[in-house]
Amino acid sequence: MRDFKKIFNTIKRESRIKECFFSNDNCSSKIIKAHSIQNNRILNQLAENGRILQLKFSDSNDQFLIIEEDVGRKIATVSTNFCGFHDSTIFSPVESRDYRKNNCEQEFLFAYRAFAKEYHVKRESKNFYEAMRQFDNGKYDLPSIEYVLKATNNTLKKIEKDKIGFNKALIESDFGIIRTHTIEFYGFYGVAASSTFAIEYDLRGNEINNLSDLDKDLKFVFLTVIPQKNRTFILISFLRKDKKLFSFIPNQIMKKSIKEQKLIISNLLLSHVENLVISPKLWRKILPEDQDKIKNMFQRNVYSSMNHLSNIKEINLFIQMNED
Ligand SMILES: [Zn+2]
Repeated sequence: MRDFKKIFNTIKRESRIKECFFSNDNCSSKIIKAHSIQNNRILNQLAENGRILQLKFSDSNDQFLIIEEDVGRKIATVSTNFCGFHDSTIFSPVESRDYRKNNCEQEFLFAYRAFAKEYHVKRESKNFYEAMRQFDNGKYDLPSIEYVLKATNNTLKKIEKDKIGFNKALIESDFGIIRTHTIEFYGFYGVAASSTFAIEYDLRGNEINNLSDLDKDLKFVFLTVIPQKNRTFILISFLRKDKKLFSFIPNQIMKKSIKEQKLIISNLLLSHVENLVISPKLWRKILPEDQDKIKNMFQRNVYSSMNHLSNIKEINLFIQMNED
């Protein structure tokens, strides 16, 4: 197991890509480690002595187990997917100003950033699975490699179109291609996220995406969680053309009580989001048995998409933290 894991980690490292999501040719500076959750304004608020927590597979352990890893905020959530010039110019409206509800430009940029990260992950996954297939070469008969590689290639082909659409909209300031529902919780909670994912079923069990049909287009959700002063904003965005499909967000989520919404969003985060950061202070507020529940749920999310929104568990990440 240890050898396999070593190889796994080496292949993973060698599969990394450096490229600017915005452009292939007119970048005037080098590719940087771009934050997908902003360091300025978000990570620096969650950090304790410059550190935040992320749920990750343990590197030191023999097994693929999820642990809460203490990460420096300067390297947390970074990805080599923008050049320095485009990273600083494109995201300036969200880096230099607080988020304001219904600001289409900012909401577009948060979705854009979440999508760019996912696109990059898929590009690297393709490299990774190709290398794994070569490494395996029938020896270990890794069962799902072919399938996963095919699924990754299919997704890449489709999201290539979305990438073009996102960049075109950015150039033309056509921010209306993105629709956003914003949920606002009063209180500062120690959690932030930026993620793109495909939900399989809504809360009533109606199908949103058929993940087993590789030929079907995926309808993505772009989710951003922004703690800001004494508020926490949950931005649930999608492409305008998919508006009808996502009517369950206002109808099934936003009509619920705040207490229920907190559970739904916590479940959504743990079951669909990998790019999630948690403040050490929040983690200490969570009971050990609940920490285990959280890690189990997260592990299932990373391994497969077996978590369903119609099965909301009693896990809440939005816990008041001011009292200590
Ligand atoms: Zn660039």
